Amino acid sequence: MEDVRRSSSGRKPAEGAEEDGLGVDTEASSFSSIYAPGAFALILFGPPGSGKGTQAKLLVTELGFAHISTGDILRDHIAAEDAIGRQVMAMMKNGQLVPDELVNQMVEERIGRPDCENGFILDGFPRTLGQAENLGWLLAARGLGHLVVHLAVDYNKLVGRLTARRQCPQCGTLYNLLSKSPLVAGRCDIEGANLVIRPDDQEMVIRKRLEAYDAQTRPLIEYFRADGSLHEVEASDAPPQVIASQVRQLIEEYRGR
Ligand code: ADP
Repeated sequence: MEDVRRSSSGRKPAEGAEEDGLGVDTEASSFSSIYAPGAFALILFGPPGSGKGTQAKLLVTELGFAHISTGDILRDHIAAEDAIGRQVMAMMKNGQLVPDELVNQMVEERIGRPDCENGFILDGFPRTLGQAENLGWLLAARGLGHLVVHLAVDYNKLVGRLTARRQCPQCGTLYNLLSKSPLVAGRCDIEGANLVIRPDDQEMVIRKRLEAYDAQTRPLIEYFRADGSLHEVEASDAPPQVIASQVRQLIEEYRGR
């Protein structure tokens, strides 16, 4: 469970610095020190169902990065039935984005944890211009670069992919009845638990999520193109391992710059 209470007071990022008790802002000196040389943010970008979570899980261990999925963090709050969970439950069920301020604060808190030392994968963040601008500020203040990989998927395939999606309620492993079925129908390969359909994977809600993507998230393609960080990987048909090897190549090129 992620604890964002410390930063949930609605402060702007620039005012969200840790204080040393004397009212002195020690932010610049304290948070830059957790990152190893060469640490950066890998932003997996794409519509719902493009495979961001799958790619993050394939790459995270070998990179030694932290995997930060804002959707997972929010679902943890819902499962914990805490104040944030109650605030976001209806929005998520309806396929709407939750407020920028909330996710910005969650991400700010999360990227300061020790497991982000080598860098982190952002899966599902940023999703609005406000989030992208806030992230830009957070990264610049920490001296971190970013690489954006846009997983481009033929729009018509997304609804089919999402309705076929199943998840283990215990370990979070994702399955897809079209491309990655569990070994035993309806059961998680790892936990043996009964797989579930996420409430927001119902078709009506999927359409709303795609609308939210179109209106609020897709414009970020131009935003990241403009700052030179955008790279595209065609993710409509290729198996996840093939896509992962293309992402690896982009990471190598990024590191070799
Ligand atoms: P997907 O990418 O398939 O939509 P996620 O797990 O990333 O799945 O997100 C599920 C839901 O969580 C979104 O529909 C939205 O309600 C909420 N959410 C996740 N990340 C964000 C974000 N960065 N900004 C606003 N809402 C978010």
